[in-house]
Amino acid sequence: QKAEWETLKTATSITADGKHYDVAANIGTPKDLDGVLANGAEGIGLYRTEFLYMDSAELPTEDDQFEAYKKVLETMSPKPVVVRTMDIGGDKHLPYLPLPEEDNPFLGYRAIRISLDRQDIFRTQLRALLRASAFGTLRIMFPMIATIQEFEAAKAIFLEEKANLQKDGVKVADDIQLGIMIEIPAAAVLADQFAKHVDFFSIGTNDLIQYTMAADRGNEHVSYLYQPYNPSILRLVKHVIDSAHKEGKWAGMCGEAAGDPIMVPILLGMGLDEYSMSATSVLKIRSLMKRLSTADMAKLADQALNESISNDENLALVKKTTDQ
Ligand code: PEP
Ligand code: MG
Repeated sequence: QKAEWETLKTATSITADGKHYDVAANIGTPKDLDGVLANGAEGIGLYRTEFLYMDSAELPTEDDQFEAYKKVLETMSPKPVVVRTMDIGGDKHLPYLPLPEEDNPFLGYRAIRISLDRQDIFRTQLRALLRASAFGTLRIMFPMIATIQEFEAAKAIFLEEKANLQKDGVKVADDIQLGIMIEIPAAAVLADQFAKHVDFFSIGTNDLIQYTMAADRGNEHVSYLYQPYNPSILRLVKHVIDSAHKEGKWAGMCGEAAGDPIMVPILLGMGLDEYSMSATSVLKIRSLMKRLSTADMAKLADQALNESISNDENLALVKKTTDQ
């Protein structure tokens, strides 16, 4: 196994029937890049920029952010880097940014909801990203999008800041894809409409499962409901992938499920394009993909979506089919 993984470090991710998929890595800070390079990820599928804010004693300046983004983009270039704008709120707090007391923080003021409200913070981040875009392949995604109006509002601000920088003669990339996290069921259900507006989707199963099953992702008392293989989750995921493809867009996944050896066969069968996970899972998943054929996995996915009725049955089904 060691020897196989060694050769896979410099390989691309190909299935037994010769189809290529992107196996990318999630990072929280530029310090994580060593692990990404060591494991040969085919890009960054999720850069959680909130750590930049959480590791700082005050709001990070445009220049501080620019340096961090530039470092990541330059290091990965020409491979793509999907940067998520800050996802503060929920359980992530900043000492210097007081948020309102809330009964339900996970259903409250967080992520894009804060960014659209506190445009000073959002514009600073977008300007830093735009400036860094000249140094690699930047893609931007917005977290916790529930409505198309939110995406359009975020995009409008992005375009304004882009025009401002260009007016000042700053070099910015002209091909920055703008996408959204699919982690709120409303966005998953409406993916066919969203797909006409966005350049890509990245499915955040950590939150999507929590919100679909109404089960707190960190609460052990309801952890039995946290079911990645439940057909309700799989059907949402399939709808998102199909909707993207219908509009010629791509769909990825950056929640934990994307690096789960039980989930990956089902996702391959549904045609998911990009799989983003912790760097330490990249070689394991690349090796797994090499053994799987997409035609077989399509049959498996069909069964998981339709025939089985519970999380546990799907778990058993995938294990049996893929010999794990
Ligand atoms: C997710 O919700 O699946 C996700 C990737 O975002 P986070 O884990 O940072 O909430
Ligand atoms: Mg999330």
